[in-house]
Amino acid sequence: ISSVELTQQFLERIRQEDGKYNSFITITEDQALADAKAADEQRAAGNATAWTGIPFAHKDIFCTNGVRTTCGSKMLADFVPPYDATVTENFRRAGAVSLGKTNMDEFAMGSSNESSHFGPVTNPWGLAKGEKRVPGGSSGGSAAAVAARLVPAATATDTGGSIRQPAALCGVTGLKPTYGRVSRYGMIAFASSLDQGGTMARTAEDNALMLNVMAGFDPKDSTSLDREVPDYTATLNEPLKGLRIGLPKEYFSDQLSPAMEEQVRAAVREYEKLGATVKEVSLPNAKLAIAAYYVIAPAEASANLSRFDGVRYGYRCDDPKDLMDLYTRTRAEGFGTEVKRRILVGTYALSAGYFDAYYLKAQKVRRLIRQDFINAFSEVDVLMSPTTPSPAFIQGEKTNDPVTMYLEDVFTIAINLAGLPAMSVPAGFVDGLPVGLQIIGDYFSEARLLNAAHQFQ
Ligand code: GLN
Repeated sequence: ISSVELTQQFLERIRQEDGKYNSFITITEDQALADAKAADEQRAAGNATAWTGIPFAHKDIFCTNGVRTTCGSKMLADFVPPYDATVTENFRRAGAVSLGKTNMDEFAMGSSNESSHFGPVTNPWGLAKGEKRVPGGSSGGSAAAVAARLVPAATATDTGGSIRQPAALCGVTGLKPTYGRVSRYGMIAFASSLDQGGTMARTAEDNALMLNVMAGFDPKDSTSLDREVPDYTATLNEPLKGLRIGLPKEYFSDQLSPAMEEQVRAAVREYEKLGATVKEVSLPNAKLAIAAYYVIAPAEASANLSRFDGVRYGYRCDDPKDLMDLYTRTRAEGFGTEVKRRILVGTYALSAGYFDAYYLKAQKVRRLIRQDFINAFSEVDVLMSPTTPSPAFIQGEKTNDPVTMYLEDVFTIAINLAGLPAMSVPAGFVDGLPVGLQIIGDYFSEARLLNAAHQFQ
């Protein structure tokens, strides 16, 4: 099959099916077909990589030269970047064919994709039962598109769980790499010390193929780390005999439904059959992660989002009276409710007089959380837990209760605070809805995580 044929088939599927899911914000049909044609020529000339001519999609947070990049916001609804993110450029160079940009929570703030200016995304598994359930967020468009087989793979980002939680809720495989492994250049910033680009696809093997393209040092990102990039597919079949698994007891708490717990424990038993050993470990400060995150992430967001002022780019209000009117009305009209809530919280936490009590304190807690993981990894190779406390919930159920929404990330957020890599892998169903197994690794252990996930699939 040629890339043009393959691309046409996926575009056709998107046209027919995405009305139900709303997983795409922008579909770049003409560009995709032109790229596919060029890829077929490359292949004919013998210059193919593993990605030449393969269709995929980008979360609409990665800047794409000449293609609208909205970040799910009215603020950027008409923004066409004049440059590519490094991740975008890497896929382009490998010959991959982007079909468009996937839906997401506004500025990646959310766990349900309901804060998107472009409307909510509907979970394909929920719809199969005749129910309108959330796909998770913020990378809900990428997760739903992969789950509904509209694309074989999609990029995503994870600041507090936004790859793993939607992957779990949509029954696909997602990887959040070590902080610094994938360049953040051209990835619209939410909380810069936590944001990390990563991968979403049906299998661990496809995630490995994606990471092969995405990972690596980038001089344009000052937090990018200069470490060798292994071939992540090379070790997928290594035996797991002797793998030491730790189960953090704080992640098997009463927040977890018994049916979910049973699925996760069954997955762990499969690993034991493959020769792994299992022991309980403790992350005593994990319970502080949500509180610390909801100081640090909004604080960084309030600084990052100050650039959207109606002057440089993005939305601008009509007929401003003066500069102050331009700023205030542009931001009042351009940002949605959740984004405004975060800016207010963040500005407050950083203000003189409160900085020590909130921001500095949260940074100290962050350090303790990191130390818990370092201690755990002196005893075990990987940690396993549920990805989320429950399966996909009904749309609208948590929209008026931000704190309940924030608890969606109770098992994922500490990993971002520590900067560690982690995956969510499909591990069965509860009431016909997918459940995710979270596998957490030490710094730069992506190859081991992919290996463990692959052996389970
Ligand atoms: N749900 C979390 C939040 O709303 C995490 C989002 C993310 O990882 N981008 O901040």
